[in-house]
This record gives sequence, structure tokens and C-alpha cells, in this order.
Amino acid sequence: MDLFSDDYTDGNTLAGPLRELFTVDMTGAVGRCVHCGGEGPVAGMKVYAQAPGLVARCPSCQEVLMRLVRGPSDAWLDLRGTMSLRIPMPPE
Ligand SMILES: [Zn+2]
Repeated sequence: MDLFSDDYTDGNTLAGPLRELFTVDMTGAVGRCVHCGGEGPVAGMKVYAQAPGLVARCPSCQEVLMRLVRGPSDAWLDLRGTMSLRIPMPPE
């Protein structure tokens, strides 16, 4: 497969799938930590609200998994400490 072929669509193709993902309760999603490889539910993360926004840390290694900042007209979600999120979905 040619990774850089012209056979692609733009990011609007993601609109439906992303809208479906971000309307479910994410606290049951299982995240994997980039730093230690540990897995656990979002509800089990250690969340610190004293920073600008919310900072979620890994309960195993204490590294940052996620940052969420809500401004007046935008939200920033930084997931660089999370390798993956497995999100439970209703049946199709
Ligand atoms: Zn960790």
C-alpha cells in the first residue's frame, strides 16, 4: 500500500464516527499509559483540578495521561500520555 497516494478523503470523513464516540460516557473507556503501559478505566485516573483545566495522571506511574482545558469558546484535549483509549460502544 502506498501511504502517500492520492486515494484519500479529507477529515470531514471522520465527522460521523467522532460524533458517535464523543457522545458516550467516556469514564468507562479503558486507557493505556504511554509511560508504563498500564491499563485502566478513565474513572480510575487521578485527576487534579488545581491546574488550569483538569490534569489526569496514571494511578500506576503518576505520569500525565490527559489534559482537558475548557475556555469560553473552545476546549483543548491533550491525550499525548494516553497510547490508546478503548471505548465501549452500544451495538451497531
Ligand atoms: Zn503509567
